[in-house]
This record gives sequence, structure tokens and C-alpha cells, in this order.
Amino acid sequence: MIQPLEPLRFDNRLAALGEAYATRVAPTPLREPRLLHANAALAAQLGLDPGALHSQAFVEIFAGNRPLPGGAPLATLYAGHQFGVWVPQLGDGRAILLGQIRDAAGASWDLQLKGAGRTPYSRFADGRAVIRSSVREYLAGEAMHHLGIPSTRALSLIVGDDPVHRETIERAAVICRVAPSHIRFGHFEVFYYRGQPERLAPLADHVIDEHFPALRGAPDRYARWLGEVVERTARLMAQWQSVGFCHGVMNTDNMSVLGLTLDYGPYGFLDAFDAHHICNHSDEGGRYAYDRQPAIGYWNCSRLLQATLPLLDDDENRAVEIAEGLLERYGPVYGETVTARWRAKLGLREARDDDAALINRFLSLLHQGRADFTLSFRRLAAVPAADGGDAAALRDWLPAVEAFDAWLPDWRARLRAEDGTDDAARAARMNAVNPKYVLRNHLAQRAIEAAERGSGAEIERLLTILRRPYDEQPEHEAYAAEPPADARHLTVSCSS
Ligand code: AMP
Ligand code: MG
Repeated sequence: MIQPLEPLRFDNRLAALGEAYATRVAPTPLREPRLLHANAALAAQLGLDPGALHSQAFVEIFAGNRPLPGGAPLATLYAGHQFGVWVPQLGDGRAILLGQIRDAAGASWDLQLKGAGRTPYSRFADGRAVIRSSVREYLAGEAMHHLGIPSTRALSLIVGDDPVHRETIERAAVICRVAPSHIRFGHFEVFYYRGQPERLAPLADHVIDEHFPALRGAPDRYARWLGEVVERTARLMAQWQSVGFCHGVMNTDNMSVLGLTLDYGPYGFLDAFDAHHICNHSDEGGRYAYDRQPAIGYWNCSRLLQATLPLLDDDENRAVEIAEGLLERYGPVYGETVTARWRAKLGLREARDDDAALINRFLSLLHQGRADFTLSFRRLAAVPAADGGDAAALRDWLPAVEAFDAWLPDWRARLRAEDGTDDAARAARMNAVNPKYVLRNHLAQRAIEAAERGSGAEIERLLTILRRPYDEQPEHEAYAAEPPADARHLTVSCSS
């Protein structure tokens, strides 16, 4: 028998933290597990033999049907603010950490099954995930990673025959999520609100030891780590905004203390640009609309800082002062990062005072005509800088032509002001930051439909494309197109 996982070096540090943080629990076996897709590139990075990915042993282990030798399966405790409301206990209700391994470079990775059955934190739910949401999460992690945006990823997608009751009866699937850590803001919030502040430090030290080694042992390590979380969150929001990514459920239990994109549910990439777009059908008030994400990121950081006040100083007033200082870093870091990104998206290299106005006018005209977000930037790259140059590539296609005609001369003047008139060089620069291929809902939907029929071929094709999102791929042009009319109003909700 092949031993595909022999090279894995386990170091289950989270399990060693003890029962206050997690409960040992084995996955529930999946009926008739079948591998729909395995991520060979990620497997190689983890030191797994890619040849073993299709073995029976691999399928059984990553379906949760056979223990992972050396692993320490457990579900962790967390809580969180959901849609602004405090929920005192959540936890891994359907995710089971199989174990933590070290790769050849010494980095630690969580191998976590999602949809692996009930845990002590399942409350009244079934611990399962359906095929559709599993395919969406599997694809999204890879899409984000290859866009250059920090994210959890996934090693495997396995489907089974277990019926799962949602609005209709669907089938179960299990993905193996891979991330340096799945620890959330909510892992800290739970102890603060339960009145167990002594449990904060061991968890914070675990995160710092593993993921912020430069801070190990420093007397002010908690403040420095939390400042880093605030800044990473601000930068992550800037990255999301710049590619038109909408998370959909930015509850504090879905926020990573490493600044990773975490928990893909009813997310979406913008098609037609509506600044107030709400991707989650269940988000009736639009709390997590596209243009609110940066403010919500800030609010979520304030919740984390509130929960970690006991780590900052024994004197409460002093702790609050420190926390406020850390939170103040969010605005400037977000502003600088996002402005740099928008500037690059417009082909500008230098920073000028009125850049924000130029950027906002372009976004407004896209919003006004509901132009396709991704393709508008891509088409702008092909517009020459010279006055009178042929702007048809974008102009003929934009709904809000008048606003564009008013904006175009100013953009051109701005390019000339920084000697940005080498059109080919500028186009190459712009295309390196403006993706051509993003994971649009209708593309994910096609992969889901194939997966429901038992085929992983469309997932493979889509991943091949999304691994090179900035490249022209003429053979895959159709995957860059706007959604067909009948797929424009696909809805996604919290049900998964
Ligand atoms: P989510 O909205 O997916 O981020 O999940 C919020 C909380 O509900 C987390 O504690 C999940 O573990 C839990 N949860 C969601 N779906 C299920 C399910 N089918 N079974 C058990 N727990 C679930
Ligand atoms: Mg979640």
C-alpha cells in the first residue's frame, strides 16, 4: 500500500495548548468517498508525494474515514460578532483540524477538514458542507492566492453519498483546508467575554511563536502583534477592494489573526460595478456591501482589540490608550495601500495630490453605467495616452460615455505629467495589476454543476486559468467575459 503521508512531520502545537482551547474529536466517515480534485502544487509545497494524491489511502484520510497517522484531530472553540451582534459560542461546528505539520522550510501548516461531521460546537447543525459550497471554497482560495492576496487554500475536494438537508436535499463534500493557521478574532473574543482573560496570553503566545517569530519573548509583543494584525487587515481590505472581491460574511469569527482571507461562503467578484453591491443574499441590510468592507474591517479590529485589552496593560485605562493607538494605524495603512493600488490600476507610477479625485471619477463613471469592473481596467490599458488616440477599446463598450469623455483628457494629461506616454510599457504594467480572469459566480456555477454530475474537469480547467489571472490566455477568452444575461442574477446565500 502506498504511504502518501509518510513524509509529513507533525507538530500539533495547538493540541498541546489544552482543552480550554479545543476538543478532541474524530471526523465522521463519508459514505462512498470519491476524489473530485486534488491540488498537486500545494501538495508538493507541503512535501507530499504528488503521485499519492489519487491513492485510496489519500481519499480515505482526507474524507475523514481513516485517521491521519501522527495527527491530533480536534475542533477549536471560538465566538464572534455576527452581523454586529455578539454570539457567545460558535467554534468549529463542521471543521476538524487533522493536525499541524511542518514543511521542509520549517513553516507550520494546519490541515483542516471542512464538512467532516458534527463536533461539540455544531449546536443544532449537521456538521456537513454541501458540494456547491465546497467547490466554491476550493476554487476561491486558489483564485485569491494566485491574485497575490493572502488566503487559506485547499488540498483536496472529496464528495460522498451522504444526503445533506438544506433548502433541498444535496450531497456532502469535504475539503481539506490548508493555512498557516485558522485562528480567528473570535478565538480571542470568546475568553474576554466569558471572563477568562488568563486564557488569552497562551493563545497569543502560540500565534506569536509560530507566526510572528521576530516578536517572541519581547515585553511589548502583544501590542506589536496586534498592531501587525490591524495593519494586515487594512492591507487585506485594500487588496479585496482593488480586485472587486466581496467576502459576504465579515463576522469577527471569519477574520484571521494572520490577515488571511478566511471562510468562503456567499462571496463574489464584482461583475457589473455597483459600489454598493451586496453579494450575500442573506445580508438584507447590506452590512457587508462592497463599499462597506474597509469600514467593517476597522470595526472588526476594534472588537479584537477590545477582547485583548488584558494583554496590553494591567491598568485598564492605559490598555485602552494603547489599543486606540493601534487602531489608529488602520486608516492610514488602508488609505496608502488602496490609493497605491488604484494608482497602479490606472497606470500611474508617481503620487500626485489630485490622484484620489481622478481615481474616484473613474470609479464613479463605472458605477454610473454599471460597467464590468474587471474588464474596464483591462480595456483602459489599451487606450493610448496621446490626445486624439483611439480610445475605442474602452469607449465603445462603456455605458457612461459622457462621463468617460470628460475624464479621459485628465487621465491623459496626468500620464504625460509623469512621462507615462510609452503605451506598451504602461499597458504591460497595468495588465500586471489588473486581472483579466477572476472567479466570477457564473464560472464557479458551471464547475459546481459538473461536480454535481461527478466530474472535476471543469474545476481543473478553471484552476488552470485562475493560476495565471493576469496573463492573456487567448484560448480561454470566454472565461474573461461578462456573465451571460441569464446568469447575471445568480444569488448566493449563507446556506451551505
Ligand atoms: P459560517 O457562517 O459558515 O462562518 O459559520 C458560522 C458558525 O456556524 C461556525 O461556528 C460554523 O462552524 C457553524 N456552522 C455553519 N454550518 C454548520 C453546519 N452545517 N454544521 C455545524 N456547524 C455549522
Ligand atoms: Mg465561519
